[in-house]
This record gives sequence, structure tokens and C-alpha cells, in this order.
Amino acid sequence: MGCDLQGTLDVVERSVSARDHSAVMPDSRIARPPLDHTVDHIRGVGPARAAQLARLGIHTVEDLLHHLPSRYDDRRVITPIGDLAPGTVATIRGTIRGVREERPFGRRGGPRRAVRSVIKAAITDRTGVVIAVWFNQPYLRGQLSRGAQVVLTGRVEQWRSQLQVQSPDLEVLEPEDEAMHAGRIVPVYPATEGLTPRMVRTIIREALEEFAGAVSEMLPEAVRAQHALMGIRDALWKVHFPGAEGEAEASRRRLAFQELFLLQIGVLIRRRAVERLPRTIRYRRDGDLTDRWRASLPFALTGAQARVIDETHGDMFGPRPMNRLLQGDVGSGKTAVAAAALVTCVQGGYQGAVMAPTEILADQHYLTFRRMLDPLGVRVVLLTGGMDVAGRDAGRAAAQRGDADVVVGTHALIQEAVAFARLGLVVIDEQHKFGVAQRALLRRKGAGPDVLVMTATPIPRTLALTLYGDLDVSVLDEMPAGRGRVSTHWRRPADRAKVYEFVRQEVAAGRQIFVVCPLVEESEKVDARAATELHESLARGELTGVSLGLLHGRMRVEDKEQVMARFRAGEIAVLVATPVIEVGVDVPNATVMVIEDAGRFGLAQLHQLRGRIGRGAARSYCILIDDPATEEAERRIRTMTATTDGFAIAQEDLALRGPGELLGVRQHGLPDFRVADPIKDLPLLEEARRAALDYLRQDAELRQPVSRALRDAVQRRFGGRLELAAIS
Ligand code: ADP
Ligand code: MG
Repeated sequence: MGCDLQGTLDVVERSVSARDHSAVMPDSRIARPPLDHTVDHIRGVGPARAAQLARLGIHTVEDLLHHLPSRYDDRRVITPIGDLAPGTVATIRGTIRGVREERPFGRRGGPRRAVRSVIKAAITDRTGVVIAVWFNQPYLRGQLSRGAQVVLTGRVEQWRSQLQVQSPDLEVLEPEDEAMHAGRIVPVYPATEGLTPRMVRTIIREALEEFAGAVSEMLPEAVRAQHALMGIRDALWKVHFPGAEGEAEASRRRLAFQELFLLQIGVLIRRRAVERLPRTIRYRRDGDLTDRWRASLPFALTGAQARVIDETHGDMFGPRPMNRLLQGDVGSGKTAVAAAALVTCVQGGYQGAVMAPTEILADQHYLTFRRMLDPLGVRVVLLTGGMDVAGRDAGRAAAQRGDADVVVGTHALIQEAVAFARLGLVVIDEQHKFGVAQRALLRRKGAGPDVLVMTATPIPRTLALTLYGDLDVSVLDEMPAGRGRVSTHWRRPADRAKVYEFVRQEVAAGRQIFVVCPLVEESEKVDARAATELHESLARGELTGVSLGLLHGRMRVEDKEQVMARFRAGEIAVLVATPVIEVGVDVPNATVMVIEDAGRFGLAQLHQLRGRIGRGAARSYCILIDDPATEEAERRIRTMTATTDGFAIAQEDLALRGPGELLGVRQHGLPDFRVADPIKDLPLLEEARRAALDYLRQDAELRQPVSRALRDAVQRRFGGRLELAAIS
């Protein structure tokens, strides 16, 4: 069989049962690859150690060998105690002469107050004596005994007339330890309760000795040669026990490359499978709906919108289903692009579905699309888990009978009971909050529907191609014209009175204002109360006499609609809300956004909220009120005051939170990264992608003998997680 679709899928799909590797390791004693063995197979690791390791997320030999040192201590240079100089960091080696533990008595006040235990040990070598001091580490007492040989690394300080090493890293040497723990570059692992870096080092050393020799090379020789990568066994050894400067880094690069290369191979295979799908949905082209929609728009499309609408249009009338990611900063007008696709779909005789990650966002989209599509006779219905049974039943029935042209909803849309008469197009907003699996579920509600996913979280292109590997990417890189400037200010709670004085002035000038209080917890009820209380206290205090409105997630859809309608009409001057308004609310006359307790919000959310103002021509102000509780919160606030560039904010968000959380790496069907960091290693990610593309060009199905190990590794690494969304 040649390059058939099934063959491609096999590579990945058989992996679900790929735990049986007997073909790889014919040796019956080791039926599984060595790296799959649980840690208790390592000499010296019993149930107790295994449990401790499990707390670090280490279950298999492979996990263990990829538990990289947090740093290395260069213990090739041991400073004779007689040569120690204050103010330097040094490694010394000597014998314990004596140990004393002091328990400071009572409160001394000042910074010393926190000292509950002081351990001092006198260390000697042939050249002198130094005192090692540890604060609040009483458990060290048991490790320090007279006569023991130790290696210490720490800062040398002069205290009174005595030299001290303060809170040094301690290693007690056993006579046979020499080679591993001293006299060389030594790996230091993050310690955890009960597991000292030294124990981890010993276990890893043991694992390397027992298992590393049996690890098979998965990177084809040619790839290694071209990218200057050392062999896998070498890399595993040297990343833990580098023999010379630079070896650790070269080993880490090799391991990270392997991880990223495998990932790219997996993603590219998935993409190819998607590319082979035939189009099943055929839209009628007649009718005047799309023209009427365009004519009804209160604005002219931006060049970027027109371009992307053309792209989606091309997809929808193209030879295979659309699989497109739309990236566009807040306010760039993604909704109009989605609407264009929905209208094309409805005119063409099919239904569209719009899925948003939360009830609140779904409500907002529902309102937006109704406002836009009702006048055209397009029937929009809402379907969320929060609706009452009757409402939900009605929504479901409308979807199933085909009475609804557009169904807007939450995860509720992908539930078993929901069916569509003729689903043509799936639109997913805030894509990064959903995963491949959920996309697949919604897709399955139709027979090969078109898919448009949208995100306001712009990320580097290679990363996008990796995370959304099966999607084409479009970018809205142009803001609608005529937007006023938005300036952002940070104020302390002590200045609230002044902030609301400013709000009054703006109201007097005919402007409208949002005041947002944060989601306190994952309970809409609690949050609704917080908003209600803020509303009341402003009405009684700072903003008496001003026309105030209240909006929160617990209100009925009709009530929300009514409040929004009054705000839009200018009857409400100040709208107090939970972040309900994060998405979709669009009132160009609103020029001030006050965010209370701003430090509690994530960057993306703050950016979204700020995106609600600056939509008209007037100058707008975003005011962040907080005494941030954490450094990170302060950094977020400072980022907001420093820039309005969504790309810069997304980068900062990535840096603060890491890609795992922010982008839901796992939700995208990708494995966790062990060694690589797709942000810090972006250049390596790009290199790995090019390498994978090159490789697949020569051996698309990984069927050649040289690809055997690679193919096994892809199966093994991705397992069922590399879901072939578009196929199923
Ligand atoms: P987002 O990309 O954040 O979803 P929206 O679709 O909500 O942005 O659009 C932001 C605002 O810009 C809305 O008020 C929308 O009506 C308006 N808008 C969209 N496209 C244009 C345009 N071409 N010209 C002027 N205003 C536009
Ligand atoms: Mg939007």
C-alpha cells in the first residue's frame, strides 16, 4: 500500500494501543522499552522513594531521565579554606569538627524575629577553619556529624572576626561517592520534601547506568548530522553529568530538539490528514442575503476584513472543508468576518453554529448576532447550559428541525443530545480556550462542516502553526479607522474619590462609562453580588445623581438585553458590571473604563476589557484601580499602562504564564513539554519545524527503514492525544 490516507492515519492512530512495543524490543526480559519502566525498577528505589518521585510528576524511567538539573555546581574547583575571601561564592571541602544548634530565645524584633533555629558547624581542611551557618533548617542537624566529609557551596561572609559560609548547599560525602558528588561539575536538582538533590542525583545516576544503554536513537542519522546533534545516550548522560563546560547545554539542546521535532512530525502528519478530506457541503450561491448583509453594515470593511472574508469565501467554495484560524487583536472586527461566513452559509442553505467558552460570552454573541442578523430574517437562537429546561429544549428543537439558521452557545452545543438538521459552518470564538477534542466534537455534528476559529491572542507564527497545526492562519492586522486614542492609568484605591470625580466630569460632558468589578471566584452568584454591592455603594456615594445601570451574568438574557439597549441608547450613563462585557459589547460613545481590583485580572482579559472603549473618535481613558497584592499583578498593570499593542501584551502574557496555561497546550492535543520551552526555544522550534518538513518530504509516511525508530517514537509520544480531529 502506498501513500494512502489510511496509512497516514495508521501512524498516529495505532498509537492508541501502542503501549505494546514487543516489536521494538525483541528481548523478552524487557518487553517494554526501557524508558517506559516505572521508577521502582531502578536499583535503590522502593515504594517510598517512588511515592516521593511521583510527587514530582516522575513515574517512569523516562520521566526521571528528563528531570533536568535546575543548575550545575562546578565542583572542579575546590577552594582551600585558608584562601576563602569574603564576598565570594566558593565550594569547599572538609571535615566537620563540631556542630552546634542554637534556638534564639524570645523575640528580638527586626528581621531576626523570624529566626527559629541556627545551626553552626565548624569545617576544617588542612588550611584553616570556617563556620558554616544555616538558618531555620533544623532538619540538617541529623546530617551533620563530627568527622563527616562534606562539600559546601555558598557565599563567604566576614562576621565579626570569623569567616562564615552562609546557608551553603550541603553534601555529605560517603567514601565511595567521590566521582559523582565532588571534584566535577555536579548537577543540582530542585529538592522536595524528603528528597535531597543528592538523592535525586544518586537515583538518576543509577537509572542512567541501568537503562541509558538500552535507549534507542529515534533521530535519523541524517537529521542529527545536519543539525549538529549528539546521540541520545550521550545526551542523557551529559545533561546530568557534563564533563566539560558547554556539554550540558549541548545535551539539553539535543533533547529539546528531539521533543520539538517529534511534535512537528506529529502536527504535520495531522495536517496532511486534514488536507486530504473531501468537501461534502455545497453552498448555493444564489440569493441576495450576503449583499443585503453588506449593505446593512454601518461601516465600510477594512482592507484586512475584506481580504480575510475573501479567504474564508474561497475556502467555503473550495475543494476541501475550511479549517481556518483567524487572529486579530481586540477590536479589529473579527465578528464581522464571522458574520460574513455565517451569512454565506445560511444563504447557501445550511446552518451555522457559534461556540463561545463561557455563558457570558455566548450571551454577548447571541445579542450581537441577533442585532445584526434579525433584520435580514436570519433566525438566531441561543443554547447554553445555564438556560432553563424549556429554553434549552426549544433551542435544541430549533437546531434539530432546522428552524434555527444560526445557533449560538457554549459547550452545551457539543453535548450528545444536540443535533443539527444541516450544519454547514462552525465558528469558534476565543479558540485558545477550547481544544482540538472539543473542536472535533462540534465538527462531528455535521458532515464535514467548515470551521472558522477566532482568537484575540496573537502568538508567534511558528507557534501558531504548531498549536493549530491543522489550520490555515489569517490575520486581521488593521484596525478600523477613526478610533480615538486610549490612555491607561494606574490609580491606588486611596484615589478612588478622584477617579469617580473624573467619571462625573465625563458624564457631564455626555460620555458613557464602564465600571468593572472582578470575578471574585468561580461563582456567578458571588460575582453578581459583588457587582450589585458596588452599584449600590456608587449610587449612594461617589456617583449619586448619575444614571447608573447594572449588568452581571446572573441576570436573565432579556434583562441583560434591556440594560444593554438602554446603555446603547444613552439612557444609562455609567454601567457597573462584572466582566460580562469582556466580549462583544460595543458602545462607541463609551470613553472611560474603570476596572476595580485590576490586579486580579489576567492580561488578556484586561486587554479585552480595555478593548470596549476607544471605539469612537473621542479620546478614551482606561483606569486601573488597585494596590496589587503580588509582584505579578503589578507587572500586569504596568504592562497595560505601557502598551496597547495586543501582540506585545500576548508576549508578556506568555512570559508570565507560560504557554501551557495560556494556550492550553494539552488541550491542543500536544504533550507537555519536558525539556523544551516553546517560547524560550522558539528558534529551535523553527529549526525543528524546518527539519520535520524536510524529512517528511523524503519519507512522507515514515515507511523507510531509517524512519522506523522515529515512527515508533511518534506513536509512543502522542498516543491517542494526537487526535485526528478532522477525520473523525
Ligand atoms: P473583535 O475583533 O474584538 O471581536 P469586534 O468584531 O467586536 O472586534 O469589532 C469591534 C468594533 O469595531 C465593533 O464596534 C464593530 O462594529 C466595529 N467595526 C468592525 N469592523 C469595522 C469597520 N470596518 N469599520 C468601523 N468599525 C468596525
Ligand atoms: Mg470578539
